[in-house]
Parts: sequence; structure tokens; C-alpha cells
Amino acid sequence: MLLLKDAAIVTMDKENPFIDNGFLVIADGKLIEVGSGSPSEKQEADAAEVISVKGKWLMPGLINTHGHIGMTLLRGHSDDLPLHRWLEEKMWPFEGKQDEEAVHAGRALALAEMVKSGTTTFLEMYHLYMDQCAEAVEEAGMRATLMRSMIGLCSKEEQEAKLGEAVRFAKQWHERADGRIRTMLAPHAPYTCPPAFIERIVEEAVQLQLPVHMHLAETKKEVADHLEQYGCHPLDHLDQLGVLDAVPWLFAHGVHLAEAQLERLARTEATISYNPKSNLKLGSGIAPVKEMLERGIRVSFGTDSVAANNTLDLFEELRIGNLLQKGSYQDATALSAGTTLELATINGAEALQFPELGKLKAGYQADFILLDGEQLHVQPAAHVLSHLVYAVKAADVTDVFVQGKALMRNRSLLTLDEEKIRYQANRQYKKVCSLM
Ligand SMILES: [Zn+2]
Repeated sequence: MLLLKDAAIVTMDKENPFIDNGFLVIADGKLIEVGSGSPSEKQEADAAEVISVKGKWLMPGLINTHGHIGMTLLRGHSDDLPLHRWLEEKMWPFEGKQDEEAVHAGRALALAEMVKSGTTTFLEMYHLYMDQCAEAVEEAGMRATLMRSMIGLCSKEEQEAKLGEAVRFAKQWHERADGRIRTMLAPHAPYTCPPAFIERIVEEAVQLQLPVHMHLAETKKEVADHLEQYGCHPLDHLDQLGVLDAVPWLFAHGVHLAEAQLERLARTEATISYNPKSNLKLGSGIAPVKEMLERGIRVSFGTDSVAANNTLDLFEELRIGNLLQKGSYQDATALSAGTTLELATINGAEALQFPELGKLKAGYQADFILLDGEQLHVQPAAHVLSHLVYAVKAADVTDVFVQGKALMRNRSLLTLDEEKIRYQANRQYKKVCSLM
């Protein structure tokens, strides 16, 4: 049993949202008690380890619901190009030269960056070396939803081979690593997957009882091209195919959705992964999150890859995401601090289908982070919830726990070797560049 005491706790539990001075009791990876005041003498005596976290703030680990960490070596490789040219001229050629070692070096860098900035759970959608990715997640002690991404611009035989690989991966890794890994199926996007292929993927997902993840309505061009080719919006197209209610969808972006699509989405189980920085950097636009939430559509946060962001810092993502909604609607009430935190915790857990995650509550997973509440930029320290959205920085994260196990203590990574990761990332980047 592990005991943390003397903490200011943001629980994200509506019944008891903030504990000024409280404690956590943890056993077998779960929270046994989230209490106010001091633990009892018996609780202290029973604990194998008692940690006082005075001056720190404790909250659920952040959840990133869209990304491609297999592309982490592409950070800064190409900026300032529109999405389609950026993909075709810069991203895909580099990715074509990445071998297993290069992808692994990028992923290790991403895992370390995520832990250091307070992300405990993330989604990885990628087409290369996914087994190795799952092994890396297991070793690092993080929590993740993983999927082998599929592009269907190829023959039927190749499509089936990709789907076979994706299904094999999904079956093999679902609920592995003490339940920390879950899987989904993932057609890349409506503009890279013909309708018949999307139908096939959904058919398999129904069989496996897994959700489906896909990029959707990211750019104006994507929607215009779809209208020209098929005569309808990509979301309406999924509806016409009869696949929209067949599985719980997780759509990345959802920038270009009009009233009709928002209304239809509100009647589904779908989640929109809001990726504000990627959408800004690629000039894609601003997702209508305020209207989504008003209609009861579930929204979570994602960073996308660092090629489009260029960091995996969710605290920065949620601050920018919040401010963008206020600015674009010219409405300071468009998105509150509390709702913003819900998107990055509770909604993220629901989107990635992790039960008992996203809140600090008895019976829930012991996935939480600690932040330094004594930094000057978070004084006066009286408004913790506000500061978590509008003032903190990723570097304020001091400690990270997943399933009750420490992945970082006092800013030192415990399951990942920071120095080796930095060296390998630079070495592998130069190697891939030399092959181009
Ligand atoms: Zn993406």
C-alpha cells in the first residue's frame, strides 16, 4: 500500500471536485481512498511507503486522444506548408526511409516527453512497427490505446493484408500490459480510404467489439474534394454507408462540420478529438467545440504528431484550445476552465474506452500527476483549477504515477533513460536524412 498525504487534490469527481488538503491510499494499482485532511495513524502504519507532497497539486494524468508518435523524429523537419503538400512532399518521403530503429527512437522520445509533461495515457495511430510500440508502452509503464493505421489507396489484396495485420495486432494486444493497453481499428481518413474499405474495417471492428478511429473533416479541401467526388460531406457519407452507428467512433479534428453534421453527430456515440495546435499550424481552421459541447457531443484533446504541433505538451494544448474557442466565438464563456480539464481527463478516458480512469475516486485507476504549486507564475496559489488551465507550464509537473507505479519522481524519469533517448533521437534523425 502506498500513501500520499498533504496534497491539494483536483479530483475531477463532481461530488467532491477539490480537496484543499488531502491524501490518497493506493493498492494494486487502484485508489482505495481519496480523503480530506490527514490519514489515520493506522493508515500510515499500514502503508509500505508514505510520501508527503506538501506544496504540490495532485490531479488525474492527462489523456491525449490523437497522435502518431512513430513520426516524432519529424519534429521541425518541415514547417509552413499546407497539409496536402506537407504530407506528400515532406512527411511521406521521410517516413518511407524510417527503419525500425528510427521509429523506435522517435517513439521513446515521445514517451519521455509525454511523461515529463504530465500525460499518462495516449493514442497511437500508425502503420509501422506497432508490436514494438506496444512493447515500449508496456516497458515504460504508460497507458495507451494503439492501432495499426490503414491507407486504402492500393489493390484489394493489399487492403485485406493491411486489415489482417491490423486485426491481428488489435486481438493480440487488447487489454495486455496489466490492462494498460487497449486497441482500435483505424482507417486513416476518408480521402485515403475508399468507402468499400471503410465498410470492411467497420465490419471487422463490430466483430471485435472495438471502436474505430479516423481523421475526419480536417481541412476545407478535404470536404470540398469529397463533395466533388461523392456529392456529400465525409460524415454524411459514413451515415449513408450505415457505419456511423455501428461502432463508437473517435474522429480526429472535426474542424469543418456544419450544423447538419453536428446534429447528426449528437445522435451518435462518437467523440471528436480536438487538436487545436495542429489545426492552427497546418492552417486547417478551428473546430467548433463550443457548439459541439452545447449539443452534447463528447470532445477530448489530442496533439497530433510533433511534425504538426510541434510538442506533446497537453497543458499548452488545453490552454490554446480554450483560448481559441473564446476568441473565435468572441465569447469569454465559450469554454470554462473546468470543462477544459474534463476534456483532457474524463472525456479522454471515455473516448479511449478506459473504464475507471480520468478521475481520482475510490475504485479508480491510480493514474495521477503532481505539479509544483510554489512556482511564481501560479501565485497566489488560491485558484488551483484556474491555474491548471491558464497558468501552469509542462515543466511544473514533478511526479507521474500510472497504475500506482511511479514513472517520474522529482522530475527524474524512472522507467525511461533520458540521456540515451536524446542521443538516439539525434543519431537516428541524421541517419534517415542521409538516406534521402
Ligand atoms: Zn493525425
